[in-house]
Amino acid sequence: MGSFETVVIGGGLVGTAAAYGLAGRGVTTALIDEGDIAHRASRGNFCLVWVQGKGDGSPSYAAWARESAELFPDFGRELQDSTGVDIGYSKLGGVKLCFSDTEMAEREVLLERIKAYPGAADFEMMDRNALDDLVPGLGPDIVGASYCIDDGHCSAPYLLRALHAGFLARGGRYLNGAGARQIRPRGKGFTIDVGERAIETEQVILAAGLDNARLAPMVGLHVPIKPNRGQILVTERLQPILNVPTNFIRQTQEGSIMIGDSHEDVGFDDGTTAGVTGDIARYGVRVFPFLAGARIVRVWGCLRTWPPDGFPIYDQSTSHAGAFVLNCHSGVSLAANHATRLVEWIRNDDGAPNLEAFSTDRFDIGVAA
Ligand SMILES: Cc1cc2nc3c(=O)[nH]c(=O)nc-3n(C[C@H](O)[C@H](O)[C@H](O)COP(=O)(O)OP(=O)(O)OC[C@H]3O[C@@H](n4cnc5c(N)ncnc54)[C@H](O)[C@@H]3O)c2cc1C
Repeated sequence: MGSFETVVIGGGLVGTAAAYGLAGRGVTTALIDEGDIAHRASRGNFCLVWVQGKGDGSPSYAAWARESAELFPDFGRELQDSTGVDIGYSKLGGVKLCFSDTEMAEREVLLERIKAYPGAADFEMMDRNALDDLVPGLGPDIVGASYCIDDGHCSAPYLLRALHAGFLARGGRYLNGAGARQIRPRGKGFTIDVGERAIETEQVILAAGLDNARLAPMVGLHVPIKPNRGQILVTERLQPILNVPTNFIRQTQEGSIMIGDSHEDVGFDDGTTAGVTGDIARYGVRVFPFLAGARIVRVWGCLRTWPPDGFPIYDQSTSHAGAFVLNCHSGVSLAANHATRLVEWIRNDDGAPNLEAFSTDRFDIGVAA
């Protein structure tokens, strides 16, 4: 039996970033993680800290994504300095490659529309000549790209490791190996059944990725997230060649090239298929012909936590005060916000961001009893 001010359920990027921020505020926090049997998007993603193109139809998301990219350098530095874990963060901008003039024109229209939102990111369209100076080795089919200086990338596994280390260093308690089976609201707070244990807490934060759909109704919330599979290919280590990431291809700090990622509606199947990995490999070689000679050393499939409209979900229960739900499909990109601004919202600070736009009210599905 343990008793905490806050229990965060889910030790992926979203839950750990929030727990790290809460522990940094002196809140007695426990982080519960189910372990390897769970689906875990944080351990199989593409590692972009990405802004461009995000928030079409949601000015709040466009500004939120940009704000996280702005906070990321300081957040990453502090995390790295305090834990000694190099998260491999680099912010030299990113490019979305285009294969035709029509695609270039459509991309520009989209990004202009988003840029008109307050606080949204700026961008630049680059023709092939300008692009060649930034991205060497491109194949003949690429006509240009959109470039956003706010974009970057990191090593998500090291980011997760650093957040865990930082959380522990800030006095947080990590309980792994058993999942939260049941959340039982009581007078002022909650009892959480975890394996054979019962944990008491004043506040509970659901950050269990896809399992939030099951847990949220226990605190009067509904979270209509679905799995969406992405497959990723990784090459052997190559000489450094790519300084900036593209939306589908990036070079890690160790030298591997990551190529991905697909978007597949296949339920909870996180396997790989020859058809999709073949398409990804062909795409990679079309973009960078030099990849034809590179050996693929790893391939995996991983499930995204996909909200119906693609925008984050942050909400608190009106029927069970102190219960929160957090979901998003950009948990790498938004980590800086989750560790700082989101925590201000959870703690109801003066000057906390208004996150109403991300509540579950936007889904026309009613509220669980
Ligand atoms: C192929 C792919 C590529 C992606 N690329 C990017 C990218 O480039 N940039 C970006 O920003 N985002 C990217 N994402 C999205 C990003 O990975 C996710 O947004 C992020 O990992 C979600 O984190 P999470 O903590 O919400 O969920 P998860 O990582 O799924 O973590 C949930 C955690 O909860 C635990 N858990 C589950 N149920 C329970 C329970 N009952 N009790 C206790 N613990 C429980 C699990 O063990 C798990 O550790 C990508 C995702 C995929 C799949």
